[in-house]
Amino acid sequence: MLKVVKFGGSSLASAKQMSKVGAIVKAEEERRFVVPSAPGRRFSDDSKVTDMLYRCYDQASAGKDIAPLLSEIRARYQEIVDGLSLNVDLDTEFSVISDYFMRQAGRDYAASRGEYLNGKLLAAYLGFKFIDAADIILFDSHGNFDAERTNDVCHARLQTTDKAVIPGFYGSMPDGSIKTFSRGGSDITGSIIARAVRANVYENWTDVSGCLVADPHLVKDPETINTITYQELRELSYMGASVLHEDAIFPVRAEGIPINIRNTNKPEDPGTMIVESTVRSPLHVITGIAGRKGFCSINIDKAMMNSEVGFGRRVLQVFEENRISFEHTPSGIDTFSVLVHQEEFADKEQDVISGLHRAVSPDRIYLESDLALIAIVGRGMKNAQGTAGRLFTALARGGVNIKMIDQGSSELNIIIGVRDDDFERSIRAIYEEFITRESKN
Ligand code: ASP
Repeated sequence: MLKVVKFGGSSLASAKQMSKVGAIVKAEEERRFVVPSAPGRRFSDDSKVTDMLYRCYDQASAGKDIAPLLSEIRARYQEIVDGLSLNVDLDTEFSVISDYFMRQAGRDYAASRGEYLNGKLLAAYLGFKFIDAADIILFDSHGNFDAERTNDVCHARLQTTDKAVIPGFYGSMPDGSIKTFSRGGSDITGSIIARAVRANVYENWTDVSGCLVADPHLVKDPETINTITYQELRELSYMGASVLHEDAIFPVRAEGIPINIRNTNKPEDPGTMIVESTVRSPLHVITGIAGRKGFCSINIDKAMMNSEVGFGRRVLQVFEENRISFEHTPSGIDTFSVLVHQEEFADKEQDVISGLHRAVSPDRIYLESDLALIAIVGRGMKNAQGTAGRLFTALARGGVNIKMIDQGSSELNIIIGVRDDDFERSIRAIYEEFITRESKN
């Protein structure tokens, strides 16, 4: 049995948190490869070290004095070094960093130091080897992550390593310069390492006990999802639910390795398992609910459009030419609508309208703004009857008017469009119907 364990920023924000991490890693011999984030927030209006590093680098680039901010960053690490009595030479580390900042080694280099230093500290605390991610996580000369070469290099290197800490979030380019993933990217590093060492499970430790059925800001104490498939998670993440970095699924998915989301502050909680597939029946018909505001629809009316071959293509081409991606295209016999992100559309709306006139000579075009999309997602829907009926009844009971409906052919999701103002109410009504009522029965 072999586990790769990744700890997020809040799990490593202080000596106290790092000691919890130490206890978790030590509790199981199989937890052999550890991927840390940079220190995150200790309290709600605290700063993340990564943000401080970006700020510091920007100051260096503007020729300002970076000493005060750099010493604030250093204090974050000093607290951990002192609290855990670690033997790590921060003086040398920070003089190198300061030097590189002054020499403008790049924003990515700057940001990566958060994970690099935390990795050094954690390796010292655990008594594990430290492996610099720059040596084994590789990007090509265009800055794209080189998945296969990285997999080979990581596999070869880690095969002969018993226990190691590998900092998350960054790697290197062929010329040796540091390159980071996008924000939250330590999740991706953990997944890459899990794939390379063929781990049995990739444990991703954070500050919540797994993925929740709905956003806790909208529903009070939502249930935790015990098992979710990669595909369900993709659907929910796309619609705004966030637990993992979007790209973190791909490396482990290539090998069918499950991800277990766990809570550093409640290690006894089993968390959420993210798997390729499972024969276990889901607890509820739906696995999760997520949604986003800020959409609008462009509605095109034209008599007899149903018999006009190529109508849809010509409409969508106008959106393509304006570089707007579309979400859904509900249609009727003489109407065709295109749902897009309002922000993306707003600047180009008049160009799109004139483009549509030229392309399809419609009878009328009208726009509807401030729409929200809500997805209910669940592998259980395929075998359940009446899901759509229950959804519509619940929304009617909640006083919500449905503007659009779309069910994916996989029957894994149903997407509805409602007015922005009805968004919160809709989520609560759906949760009440599919989770609260089912739990009572
Ligand atoms: N420290 C980086 C960030 O704040 C990466 C990570 O935590 O995963 O985005």
